[in-house]
Amino acid sequence: MALTEDKQVIHHVLLVAFAAQGHINPLLRLGKRLVSKGLHVTLACTGNIQERLLKQVATTNTEDESNNSSNNSKSHSISGIQLLFFSDGFDLDYDRKADLDHYFNTLEKVGPVNLSNMIIEHYYNNHKKLSCIVINPFVPWAADVAVQHRVPCALLWIQPCSIFAIYYRFFNKLNSFPTSENPDLSVELPGLPVLSTEDLPSFVLPSNPFNSLLKMISGLYQNMKKHKWVLANSFLELEKDVIHSMSELCPIRPVGPLVPTSLLCEDEESDVGVELWKPEDACSEWLNKQSASSVIYVSFGSITVLSAKQMEAIATALKNSNHPFLWVAKQPEVPTSDGAGQLPNGFIEETKDQGFIASWCPQTKVLAHPAIVCFITHCGWNSLSETIAAGVPVITFPQWSDQPTNAKLVTDVFKIGLKLRRNSEGIVSTEEVETCIEEIINGPKSEEYKKNVMELKAAATKAVASGGSSDMNIQWLVDEISNGNSCESEGFHFSK
Ligand code: UDP
Repeated sequence: MALTEDKQVIHHVLLVAFAAQGHINPLLRLGKRLVSKGLHVTLACTGNIQERLLKQVATTNTEDESNNSSNNSKSHSISGIQLLFFSDGFDLDYDRKADLDHYFNTLEKVGPVNLSNMIIEHYYNNHKKLSCIVINPFVPWAADVAVQHRVPCALLWIQPCSIFAIYYRFFNKLNSFPTSENPDLSVELPGLPVLSTEDLPSFVLPSNPFNSLLKMISGLYQNMKKHKWVLANSFLELEKDVIHSMSELCPIRPVGPLVPTSLLCEDEESDVGVELWKPEDACSEWLNKQSASSVIYVSFGSITVLSAKQMEAIATALKNSNHPFLWVAKQPEVPTSDGAGQLPNGFIEETKDQGFIASWCPQTKVLAHPAIVCFITHCGWNSLSETIAAGVPVITFPQWSDQPTNAKLVTDVFKIGLKLRRNSEGIVSTEEVETCIEEIINGPKSEEYKKNVMELKAAATKAVASGGSSDMNIQWLVDEISNGNSCESEGFHFSK
């Protein structure tokens, strides 16, 4: 077992991430905080994004080191966190989104074997003490690998604690949820506003078409006892009621928001994160030329593709608003034949003096820019955490997964914005977008939204600062790990 000079055990933590930017970055940011508290941290994810990640490491992290390990292959690290890769069982050029069921089923079979071999090679063959494995929700099988190696496992939940609580109650059948027979049932849960069908996570609805994702989340909850600790990318002051409502069922400890440190008034140098798409830095220069609190920022994240009709309605509303706008119109990864995800013909030319269209932008820098007045967002939890940390009010346009509930939190719990309503065709009309833009910028509640989001920004900053609620939860985890809490033979229990 590895010892430091003063004969203390070196504790190693392995973070296991699903290979997506919104999954890797919160884990890296947690990892960075664990490193700052003296632990040795490695991030493992599937090799399909190895090339893209290592380019980032080389270009954005000048302090990173590359050295030769015992098997003569190069090892890479980012901000003091070593990076390792294992195979997901597919060739590098395989289209992983083409058949999600097949992809997740295969990953569930080959992932545990390959991860386990990686642990043996990297830790046991080098006599390193692996004291904790932290996983995120899309690799639930990694908890079985932790049990197999008798290493305590933590889950980092990367959506709000509210979503964790809803799924917990749904999968454990603690409350009634909509069914095919009763599809419009409203749900009342402790610590949350009453949730109608349109506010619930889409995976719990009878209409959910994504069976592999539902199966994976269900598997995670069935395996919950294998996680010794449940952490979340949130902060106590943001979701106090729902966090308390879980304390007797399955305690969840928020350690966030795990957003770039520069948003939380901390040293920019201490940030860590990767970008899987190259941001257009020119938008920062464009923003510098705009007046304070004037620009509408529009982005629907990395996955959402809006129909041509929806794109047109938003485009017309932005043009009519007479406000400058910055719109991230990310092109669909698989080209569409029906115009989905495309801007209307002539729109870029017509609005060239009013707007900036980007295919990907440095979102957190954009949100922190004084020119931004509001954010039209799909309500991905990373985007919402970032807008809260930046103090920017939002107009919500949720699509699927946790986003409908996140939008409800925005309007009814955080009170930092309003929601775009769909018409009977399922489209948000031009008039609706125009009304919401006017409301958020000049409406009777606009000052209140701004005040509330600024208060949450201050609370987030306090939570991650030394002695704050999230910092104390991280310190508690470090103490648990360092005190050598090992797993129990029948699986793990939750410490209160
Ligand atoms: N993002 C970015 N540039 C963009 C759009 C998004 O860097 O132009 C980042 C954003 O800051 C966030 C992530 O991509 O961290 C999106 O994650 P989120 O959970 O909001 O949505 P998802 O992409 O998972 O739907």
